[in-house]
Amino acid sequence: MNADLVVVGSGLFGLTVAERAANELDLNVAIIDRRSHIGGNAYTENEEQTGIEVHRYGAHLFHTSNERVWDYVNRFTDFTDYVHRVYTRHQDEVFPMPINLGTINQFFRAAYSPAEARALIQEQAGELAGTDPQNLNDKGIQLIGRPLYEAFIKHYTGKQWQTDPKDLPASIINRLPVRYTYDNRYFNDKYEGLPVDGYTAWLERMADHPKIDVRLDTDFFDEGHDYSRSAVSGQVPVVYTGPVDRYFDYAEGDLSWRTIDLEQEVLPVEDFQGAPVMNYPDADVPFTRILEFRHFYPQRNYTKDATVIMREFSRFAEKGDEPYYPVNTSVDREKLLKYRDLARGEDNVLFGGRLGTYKYLDMHMAIGAALSMVDNKLKPHFTGGASIESGGVDA
Ligand code: FAD
Ligand code: UDP
Repeated sequence: MNADLVVVGSGLFGLTVAERAANELDLNVAIIDRRSHIGGNAYTENEEQTGIEVHRYGAHLFHTSNERVWDYVNRFTDFTDYVHRVYTRHQDEVFPMPINLGTINQFFRAAYSPAEARALIQEQAGELAGTDPQNLNDKGIQLIGRPLYEAFIKHYTGKQWQTDPKDLPASIINRLPVRYTYDNRYFNDKYEGLPVDGYTAWLERMADHPKIDVRLDTDFFDEGHDYSRSAVSGQVPVVYTGPVDRYFDYAEGDLSWRTIDLEQEVLPVEDFQGAPVMNYPDADVPFTRILEFRHFYPQRNYTKDATVIMREFSRFAEKGDEPYYPVNTSVDREKLLKYRDLARGEDNVLFGGRLGTYKYLDMHMAIGAALSMVDNKLKPHFTGGASIESGGVDA
């Protein structure tokens, strides 16, 4: 084996580690992925019939306020000036999302000022107003009051997570801003945009280095290849970004994950819904949202004869499904503590990324965490001879 470092998983976490290890630390890196393409869930491809760029694993919008991450990603791609805006269709009426003064006034058929809307929401939050609840249900009611919560959040969350919102952490809903202005930007971050020539071109540039050996269709746990678990164990440091419970053969039980079934359709119309994302928060619609990809790149000369849409159906992942989102119930968190202990005892293996740490990481967070791992663990090891201490899956 001529690799100094093996990276399992070519998502943004693994790619960042591999790129830095090759360019900054001058190492030979093998990066393996069980899928037949690089990029993990950020991968995109052009739909054959229309040429429209499709996000194979669901919509990926890049945003960050982290200067270091922004400088880093700009080495590989320029970004468009795309600003994400989402609409939500409740009982055959379309509202702006996230909840802002426009949503509130449309919902209550009113013309409240910001102060009046705040006072109303506080009243509707009832006994939860001003508290700091820890679960999603109470946090949602505290943030926007019960009527808006029940219209836009309760069933959407139920469909998306298939878990009682009382059992979900409040942090999930904290991702969404609530604004008492008409600003309906989805994200609050300083920087936002889409890679000018697509995600896959960006991701391929990260891996394009003579010292990076990419092996696709290669599962770490399968025997018979150079970088299998048994071949590399104890021989060379490993950065593992697959599911942490799988690594330990589910010794502490299965962590619960949510997966998404994505139904893609080409329709013979120029524009299906007039927006990139339409959410469906009502209980009687089985999917959570519809993506329409042409709207991510209005500057491209896409065909006017057809459009590509994708419906997202969310469900619990079973073995064999792609584990997309950590569900993170209290039972999961107990198991995770045990996996962290196991990871701490694992010599020469570092756990990273969304699956490896069981954390709901956005792309910029995965990249930021990977840059920190290079600084704090790999660089001291490869330049100063420090031992590789995992520090657990939270590292
Ligand atoms: P991943 O991208 O999941 O990559 C892990 C890789 O490891 C995969 O390619 C997998 O095949 C491989 N792997 C696993 N096990 C093995 C094994 N045994 N052997 C070999 N390879 C293995 N982030 C945003 O910033 N904005 C968004 O709008 C956004 N939308 C999202 C929408 C969806 C539906 C999902 C699922 C995620 C979204 N994200 C978004 C998050 C984003 O996808 C992640 O932050 C990013 O993919 C994390 O990268 P990663 O490397 O940790 O994991
Ligand atoms: N959410 C909701 N209704 C919406 C949009 C979001 O209830 O119309 C909730 C839901 O619980 C979701 C969370 O807010 O899981 C975070 O939303 P986000 O769009 O950030 O989720 P993503 O699918 O991008 O991870």
